[in-house]
Amino acid sequence: MAPLGDGLDTAEEAIAGHLVKRPISTVVIIIAMQTEALPLVDKFQLVEDSDSPFPKGVPWVRYYGTYKELNINLIWPGKDLGLGVDSVGTISVSLVTYASICALQPDLIINAGTCGGFKAKGAGISDVFVASEVAFHDRRIPIPVFDMYGVGLRPTFPTPNLLKEINLKAGKLSTGDSLDMSPQDEASIIANDATVKDMEGAAVAYVADLLKVPAIFVKAVTDIVDGEKPTAEEFLQNLATVTSTLGQSIAQIIDFISGKCLPEL
Ligand code: SAH
Repeated sequence: MAPLGDGLDTAEEAIAGHLVKRPISTVVIIIAMQTEALPLVDKFQLVEDSDSPFPKGVPWVRYYGTYKELNINLIWPGKDLGLGVDSVGTISVSLVTYASICALQPDLIINAGTCGGFKAKGAGISDVFVASEVAFHDRRIPIPVFDMYGVGLRPTFPTPNLLKEINLKAGKLSTGDSLDMSPQDEASIIANDATVKDMEGAAVAYVADLLKVPAIFVKAVTDIVDGEKPTAEEFLQNLATVTSTLGQSIAQIIDFISGKCLPEL
């Protein structure tokens, strides 16, 4: 066996090279709402894990199955144990992302969901965006360097070939824990140069970055933030149609990913 450090790859580099060159095998799709998840459960005939890898008593749900060469895991944080609504937002999505990575060791994370879009930046209802970068808009810490920590700007895993192949838009995503938009949030979203806003993306990116798992963000527009209609009303009006469009896009993405290595995306 060749000794390390003699000009050949180190063991670590060799392992990393191997991982990158082999086809993607395990994908974790993180979805915040049941309505967003069900079209994919149907499409890929996923089944609910009755013996999930998560701690006893948490509402987190794993649906799983295989499609072509891929092990697909769809993770939904489930319904809030006290209130019975979807556990949307950054806290629950961070926890399920962490637990899913630890338990399932995915090659790739896809955070899919709905979002608000800015028409001034070219977004329209039902458009599906792949985020080029993600940041937070509600973590204001006006102290040098902490300000940047709060914004938490992160690039996403680049997917130039996927964007060429499938009809998806590219744009920056801004994340906060509110569905509405305060004037302060608006100023931060503009500073983030975002085209779409959601309540999970940058939190998933934080955890994925921490544990060094490539992540992509696929977001379908349910409401126009800089339009005339109230956000909550427009969101609910469009939710069913837009989640079906989102499901179709994710299915195309899964098809595209199957059999490919990470650098081919
Ligand atoms: N009233 C809804 C609440 C869902 S919260 C319900 O009936 O359950 C909105 C979800 O959709 C979040 O997961 C968020 O990521 C996404 N979303 C859609 N439009 C959004 C917007 N304008 N701003 C922030 N998040 C949005």
